[in-house]
Amino acid sequence: MQPTLRLTGPRPACADGRFAPSPSGVLHLGNLRTALVAWAIARAQNAAFRLRIDDLDPGRSRRVVADGQLRDLRDIGIDWDGPLIRQSERSAAYAGAERDLDAAGLLYRCWCTRAEIRDAVRAPHGPQHDGYPGTCSRLTAAQVAERESRGRPPALRVRASGAGASFTDRIAGAVSTPVDDFVVRRGDGAYAYNLAVVIDDHDQRIGEVVRGADLLDTTPRQVWLHERLGLPVPSYAHVPLLLGDDGERLAKRHGAVTLAERVAGGESPGAVRAALAAQLGIGGPGADDEPQVLVTAVRALLERAA
Ligand code: GLU
Repeated sequence: MQPTLRLTGPRPACADGRFAPSPSGVLHLGNLRTALVAWAIARAQNAAFRLRIDDLDPGRSRRVVADGQLRDLRDIGIDWDGPLIRQSERSAAYAGAERDLDAAGLLYRCWCTRAEIRDAVRAPHGPQHDGYPGTCSRLTAAQVAERESRGRPPALRVRASGAGASFTDRIAGAVSTPVDDFVVRRGDGAYAYNLAVVIDDHDQRIGEVVRGADLLDTTPRQVWLHERLGLPVPSYAHVPLLLGDDGERLAKRHGAVTLAERVAGGESPGAVRAALAAQLGIGGPGADDEPQVLVTAVRALLERAA
């Protein structure tokens, strides 16, 4: 049984929303359902809706995949405003944020390998949280010189100093957690998702971030970054993930998991849209409606929450 969508808390002053797929594979129905909810929440408040391609990682991003994702979004009834932005073209904006954080003394270099971090976190007397244990923030000058001499470029981490971040998610409720010294730039020079998303959401004037619940855990880091960079923190709503009949996250073995597969099975994109929305208790099941029907249903849902 899928949960019915409920939004609580005050509406943000700016309700401009967005969807930001990573072009590493075809959008599955769970991604499309989240996109539909994000789009309908923005449109129900007469707000703008923006599209961003999260192609930060060159090794995992393909242009043809991004084009296919945009096609699926259009086919299922989503429209967007203004030009879409691609993270691969925004390094200068991320570099500006890096400079600001550095000037505020909030960055340090880290040479740890993944294995070293894993071992430190596992050590019986090491820090008990899952985040980075801060090893490279405590290096002596001699240790820094030794690591520099190895020639492997360091990653850049924030110095969170055990700070916490709090926010109220409009679906998940109040969240308050410590923030670890997370990476903002990898050793190979690629900017990290948490930094990029904050700068992009700010530059696109996003007031309400509606996205999948799998990203809820990343949000405290982003809230922390917004605050440290002096940027207004958007409102957040993390939509429950679409699960298969067995209660597991949707995967290939669950059958038709993409729009193309459902259309090949005889459904129209409108019927798929209505079915996805109905799973969240929005609208009636199976009706081949206009996209506007979903917007009207979400408007009613928002009014009930107000
Ligand atoms: N690109 C991310 C993903 O596809 C989403 C980023 C976001 O919505 O903040 O999982």
